[in-house]
Amino acid sequence: MDIKNNIKKIQDFLSGKPARLVAVSKTKPAELIQKAYDEGLRIFGENKAQELSEKYEVLPKDIEWHMIGHLQRNKVKYIAPFVTLIHSVDSLRLLKEIDKQAQKNDRVIDCLLQVHIAEEDTKFGLSEEELKEMLASQEFEAMKNIRIVGLMGMATFTEDQDQIRREFKSLKNIFDRLAQMETPVNVSMEELSMGMSGDYEIALEEGSTLVRVGSAIFGERNYA
Ligand SMILES: *Cc1c(COP(=O)(O)O)cnc(C)c1O
Repeated sequence: MDIKNNIKKIQDFLSGKPARLVAVSKTKPAELIQKAYDEGLRIFGENKAQELSEKYEVLPKDIEWHMIGHLQRNKVKYIAPFVTLIHSVDSLRLLKEIDKQAQKNDRVIDCLLQVHIAEEDTKFGLSEEELKEMLASQEFEAMKNIRIVGLMGMATFTEDQDQIRREFKSLKNIFDRLAQMETPVNVSMEELSMGMSGDYEIALEEGSTLVRVGSAIFGERNYA
């Protein structure tokens, strides 16, 4: 596996597009992340809070760490001091905990709301209705230490390219509708996180600003 070539291929595809690469390094050792860093990558994504904070400790401090996986409330404290963006906020309760921990660390944490766009019901995320309800609530408006900067979604795991495209389009439409709505001051629709190793090309065509690519950079993951 040639990390250097893998990164170059993706960067060539991204060049000229208004999107950034989040290198998904979950399960991969710090030495491999350092190699990707040496190739110029600065944004890394992880899906477990403890693994994320352990890697933060040992790797260069100018890395932007993104939390991309389902986040439990009791784990927020591990990443609150340094995390740059949390992609996977799917409830008001979780958001409240992030706000609380951000306040403790005297900072504002940027978050994306995760929207359910896939056919499978195994994937986490809010519906458009739930999302609007959340943004309209007084509890939401009162949070001063979080900022919602966009949306995240995962397409169905399928070979059907048309279906993937349809799902990405539906997320982009929700994003555009929210961008036009009057929302509280702690909301600003700037980032649309969609696309992984198997579908980032389609996601970019449909308006993604953050692609989360793991195996196409680091090779297959071994969960053993
Ligand atoms: C693991 C993961 C990715 C990256 O998956 P690849 O198919 O390896 O690119 C992207 N997004 C989320 C939320 C993930 O958990």
